[in-house]
Amino acid sequence: MAKKLVKTKTPIPCQAADARRANFLEVALGYTKEMAVAEAERCLKCSNQPCVAGCPVEIDIPAFIALMQQGDISGAARKIKEKNALPAVCGRVCPQEDQCEKVCTMTKKFEPVGIGRLERFAADFEAAQAFPGDNGASLPARAPKTGRRIACVGSGPSSLTVAGDLILLGHEVTVFEALHKAGGVLVYGIPEFRLPKAIVQREIDYLSRLGVEVRTNTVIGKSFTIDELLGEEGYDAVFIGTGAGLPHFMKIPGINLPGVYSANEYLTRSNLMKAYRFPEYDTPIVRGQRVAVVGGGNTAMDSVRTALRLGAKEARLVYRRSRAEMPARKEEVEHAEEEGVIFMMLTNPTRIFADEGGRVGLMECVKMELGAPDESGRRSPVVMPGSEFTLEVDTVVMAVGQGANPLIRATTPDLKCNKWGYIEADEETGRTSKPGVFAGGDIVSGGATVILAMGAGRKAARAIHAYVTSLPRRAETGRR
Ligand SMILES: Cc1cc2nc3c(=O)[nH]c(=O)nc-3n(C[C@H](O)[C@H](O)[C@H](O)COP(=O)(O)OP(=O)(O)OC[C@H]3O[C@@H](n4cnc5c(N)ncnc54)[C@H](O)[C@@H]3O)c2cc1C
Ligand code: SF4
Repeated sequence: MAKKLVKTKTPIPCQAADARRANFLEVALGYTKEMAVAEAERCLKCSNQPCVAGCPVEIDIPAFIALMQQGDISGAARKIKEKNALPAVCGRVCPQEDQCEKVCTMTKKFEPVGIGRLERFAADFEAAQAFPGDNGASLPARAPKTGRRIACVGSGPSSLTVAGDLILLGHEVTVFEALHKAGGVLVYGIPEFRLPKAIVQREIDYLSRLGVEVRTNTVIGKSFTIDELLGEEGYDAVFIGTGAGLPHFMKIPGINLPGVYSANEYLTRSNLMKAYRFPEYDTPIVRGQRVAVVGGGNTAMDSVRTALRLGAKEARLVYRRSRAEMPARKEEVEHAEEEGVIFMMLTNPTRIFADEGGRVGLMECVKMELGAPDESGRRSPVVMPGSEFTLEVDTVVMAVGQGANPLIRATTPDLKCNKWGYIEADEETGRTSKPGVFAGGDIVSGGATVILAMGAGRKAARAIHAYVTSLPRRAETGRR
């Protein structure tokens, strides 16, 4: 008898909106095994597998879902890990609606299969079987030691992927991270309520167990330059995965007033420094009552939902385009709305005024309308004349994009960068203009996604392996 198609995704249990806006615990609670198997049953096992082509790292989605249908969850997790080293992270933060789920055959008539939710369940299930510090996987065999040494600069998803791949190939790998904790945006940017930090730490611990050395509090460009890593520090190759963490600000009057923050600082205080638990943790954070966050991406959404959780009575999202153009993940937009974030679309700040104490007090905005498409293909916002109005605010958070930090560029003169300061690197290999130096992730592409950074890391790892294994042996050259 033909299987009856279930039209909608199996709902994922979540904390109620009223409860979660007052805490930093994870919003989505994840499937039970019964729910996961029921959702897996919705898959049509399409022979043309459009979902695989829709995944930037080409996970064999029908194969892992088939294993879940049989109840072999660990097998499903192993299948995913053949292509994706961080499934518990990607199952939570990937924009599946623009990737695998967008092209799922089910969308022709119904909701797509909940591929992200299944990926998350498989990874969490496997981890739950393990002991602390393990990510669930028994340690894979390492190739015999090659004596080659690779430095990864930054510890975001691109570098973690490079490190994980190269350590298995027998190389010695050191990850240098400027901050006191490894993980990149996964720890300093994305809040606990979307991605629990214990999950990221589990993955870092796993790399350490494999033998990767992680050196935090080490700023490359200050502690060592890239040339020093390749010279006296004795590394055979360097991968640069330093992300795009330099905040941009709008050039409007009042932008330097106390009470105006970059999203980067606001989120780093809350996530990395645990300021939301002040005074238990040392770092304070402003607990604004009338907060306006400017922007429409994931960073803006994370900031405005953080403001709510810090006790804001009004948490507004001010965005110059319409909701359809917002680059944030759809689920986060829906969750923010349920939690009570006030969406002010087609609105742009023009000036910020101080209150009598010299802090932020009012923000002047204009209304916008959408004109002709710009080079990104999105319709450009155009100011509506005479539409000025003011908002009472005590905190403004700017989430209008981030750029490349200039430190490595400034200390590595022969590293070719483009006019925006991003490193020029070959798309297929990550090779840069400097021999032995590779790069990938946001420092090459500009702000993108976790899975794209991981994909770039995987390609670079392959190229670095080929490069270092082709080098003459150290004894022949006198290199350290
Ligand atoms: C708030 C926020 C939310 C996001 N949400 C999502 C999401 O939901 N889904 C999604 O797919 N993507 C999301 N993104 C984008 C995604 O996180 C990034 O595309 C991804 O993390 C880029 O990875 P990366 O390895 O290039 O670098 P990053 O993750 O940026 O890590 C770079 C690391 O390098 C370190 N570093 C920088 N300079 C130096 C130096 N000189 N020496 C040593 N270390 C250095 C930094 O401290 C940082 O830890 C979000 C981004 C932000 C900011
Ligand atoms: S496209 Fe959708 S239904 Fe088809 S195999 Fe992939 S997940 Fe299953």
